Parts: sequence; structure tokens; C-alpha cells
Amino acid sequence: MPELPEVETIARGLAKRVAGDVISSVWLGSKPEPLKSPASEIVRTLESSRIKGVRRVGKHIVFDLISEGRPASGVKNRRARKLSKPTHSLSDAQWIVHLGMTGRMVVCEPNEEIAKHTHAIAKLASGRELRFVDPRRFGRLSVASGFEAPGVEPLEVELERFVSLFHGRKTPIKSALLNQKLLSGVGNIYADESLFRAGIRPRRRASSLSREDLRRLYLCIPEVLKEAIELGGSSISDYVDSDGEEGFFQLQHRVYGREGEPCLVCKTPIKRIVIAGRSSHYCPKCQK
Ligand SMILES: [Zn+2]
Repeated sequence: MPELPEVETIARGLAKRVAGDVISSVWLGSKPEPLKSPASEIVRTLESSRIKGVRRVGKHIVFDLISEGRPASGVKNRRARKLSKPTHSLSDAQWIVHLGMTGRMVVCEPNEEIAKHTHAIAKLASGRELRFVDPRRFGRLSVASGFEAPGVEPLEVELERFVSLFHGRKTPIKSALLNQKLLSGVGNIYADESLFRAGIRPRRRASSLSREDLRRLYLCIPEVLKEAIELGGSSISDYVDSDGEEGFFQLQHRVYGREGEPCLVCKTPIKRIVIAGRSSHYCPKCQK
């Protein structure tokens, strides 16, 4: 499942390839699951729109669109109305892609064979195509205006705000890190890796962490995420180009997926426990 660093890498790769291009037409498949907004709204919003840029918001890929040569009809789904701000021009809309478990957004030449499980094709004025392929169909496509992630951005949040997110929370810190309403985009692997580097056990109650604990965690989360993003920078083509290979790059995990293997710091076997249904890995000696 793509996590924040992968989504960041993919968004950067897509931005390089399609920013400035215009979506000339849209084809949507018949499977209903990938469409979070009504098909007609997706088509109306995307067609004749210029892709101003592509960025990551939480674990979403967001295409910022500007309407080209037609009156802005606005986006009329419920979510968009709720999220839209009066300061937002109606001509600004976003195409939001969540990759789910197996979703891929690839840039193709039009003569390339259409892969099985292709659910959407956006034809671009440059002649290329943006295709959304997703065998397991947990990915979602939607359109909105003024889209924002529910939580704060882990690469931008300030220390005071970060500390306040966990104040008084009786849930394990691991669960709090995975709560997308607090921090947006931190998934299971990077939560485990960040907690290891910060020396904090995943089961500790968030409210029991000292300010110093939280300060260490605050520094470790972006450190881990940025290392993974840098690793991904060299392999963008693997995710965005249609001839790229399957699979995501991996940060050298220090605890995640290493149950029973020796801790890289102290040689103690790494433990695996389940917290809120998710595997959590930690070193019983290095993490308190
Ligand atoms: Zn250790």
C-alpha cells in the first residue's frame, strides 16, 4: 500500500510529466467502486481543464485544475460544497486520486495497450494519456473544490501544534499516529520506524508522553519520511511511467517487518504486537 513518501514521489513524477497539459477528454470504466464522485461530475470537471500542478495532500494525489475556455460550472457534489471556501474561485477545481492498495496512475502513449483493470483514461492535448489502473479497486477518484486533508501535514506542522495533537489522548501513541484526523498521511510502516527512532514504545498512551518524548517524535517523523522520499526520487519512473516496474521502493526498515530479528542498535530481538488491528514492531530495549 503506498504511503506518504510513495504518494509524494508519484505526485512529483506526475507533475514533471503532465503539469501544463490540458485534459481533452475522459473515459471512465463501468466499475462503480473507483468513482467517489458521480461519473458525470468527474467528466465535467476534468474535460477542457488545464493541469496547473500535481501535489500530495496527506495520502492523496491532487491535480489542480483550471478551466479552459468554458464557463466554470463549479463542482456540485456534497463534499465539495462542504469544503469550499468563499475565497476559492469557482474555476479552481481539483481531481483527487487515492491509490488505495493497488492503484497506479500512469502516463502512457495512446497506442499502448490498455492494461486490465484500467478504470479511467484522461486524454491529454499533448497526445499522451493518464490512466488509472487498480486491480483491487480500493483506490478512489473524485473531484472537489478547495480540497484539504482532514489532519495536519507531518512535513510542515510546527512543534507546538504537533504537541497539542496528542494532549490528553488516552489511545496508544501508535494509534494516534495512524489517526488521519490528527496527522495526515502517516501510515503503519513509517509510524513504527518513527517510534523506533524516537525510542518510544508503540503501546504508550499518547497522553503519557513527556514534552521531550514528543519533541523527539516530532523530529523523527519527517526525518523518516524525507529519507524515504529521497530514496524514491531516483525511481519515480517505476511508478508513473507505463513501462515502470511494479512495487514500491523501501526504506531500510529498522523494525517494521523484522519480528524476531536482532535490533540494529542493541541486538535484542524485535517484537511484534497488534494495536488496533495493525501490526506494530518495536525493540523492547531501545524503546520505553
Ligand atoms: Zn534495540
